[in-house]
Amino acid sequence: MSRAVVSLGSNIDPERHLPTALARIGARPELEVVATSPVYRTAAVGPSGQPEFLNAAVLLETALDPAALRELMRSIEAEMGRRRTGEAYEPRVIDLDVILYEGFAGEIDGTHIPDPDIGEHAHLAVPAADVAPDWGYGDDVTPLRVIAEPFRNRIERQMSTEPTPLRGERYATEREMEAAVDEVFDPELEANVRAILAKLGEEPDREGLLRTPLRVAKALEFLTSGYSTSVEEVVNNAIFESDADEMVLVKDVEFYSLCEHHMLPFFGRAHVAYMPNKKIIGLSKIARIVDVFARRLQVQERLTNQIADAIEQAVDPHGVAVVMEGSHFCMLMRGVQKQGSSMVTSAMRGGFKENPSSRAEFLDLIGR
Ligand code: ZN
Repeated sequence: MSRAVVSLGSNIDPERHLPTALARIGARPELEVVATSPVYRTAAVGPSGQPEFLNAAVLLETALDPAALRELMRSIEAEMGRRRTGEAYEPRVIDLDVILYEGFAGEIDGTHIPDPDIGEHAHLAVPAADVAPDWGYGDDVTPLRVIAEPFRNRIERQMSTEPTPLRGERYATEREMEAAVDEVFDPELEANVRAILAKLGEEPDREGLLRTPLRVAKALEFLTSGYSTSVEEVVNNAIFESDADEMVLVKDVEFYSLCEHHMLPFFGRAHVAYMPNKKIIGLSKIARIVDVFARRLQVQERLTNQIADAIEQAVDPHGVAVVMEGSHFCMLMRGVQKQGSSMVTSAMRGGFKENPSSRAEFLDLIGR
């Protein structure tokens, strides 16, 4: 993992776009937000008469290399409607620039990292110094806090967000953003949630529901994050050579999913076993594979089979067994199913299918 600083700027409806960009960066699985700066108001660089900018910076941790990180920022800009016309001083919906990257100095497609303007402009120096005060910059490795000092009285702090503490305080950032601004996460999805609320006879504008479309949109994005995750990504080389030939069993893996018929939760436990064939997989990866398929709209039978398929593809074992026990809200809440009863599905492959004693051993170990 490497650290990097991304500078954010907007001068088209910036009160809306800057927080949206922060939320989108925070939602990317490839990026860990370590700290977020306050938001500053600054005059536009270049010809006069341009609207003012709001600027901020984030300190990230990522496994992406500098070029891939820059590419990801370009794609978030594009998602938000930024068109790069090549004009130097055009108004910007959003600018997301990688201005510092740990251990890297060079040029990517005409962009220099570290950004040579950090020492020239308040809107770059001050937010960067807030999130990475001790980062050494320039030939003499001057800490950013020293570089930013002369600019501090020339820049106006716009929003009441304090710099977040370094490390593990992502939720503080989210809370502050929630309090500070009118955040938008996914305008289309939020409008649809609002329409559902109205259709149900609710008043979407009453106090308690004001931020509900935003929260529901975020929750749905998380609960269906399996669509944007792959098994390869999750397994990520955690496959090892081994002579072991005893059954490997991971019991009681909790899962949470949404049924595709009603979009209501179903949840329970998965038991996953395989018979190694020269290759084994890290145990924690099995739980991650379960999540990749559970965080989608599902039926339990397909979910069970997809997990078995993924283990087969990952380690090519002599056999795979998956048993899932799930309680379905669509049945529990509508009174179709007796409280507490659950649905059991299984997938038996290879040795577990062909050999009754292996299957019996597995079922015995999981207490069925
Ligand atoms: Zn259902």
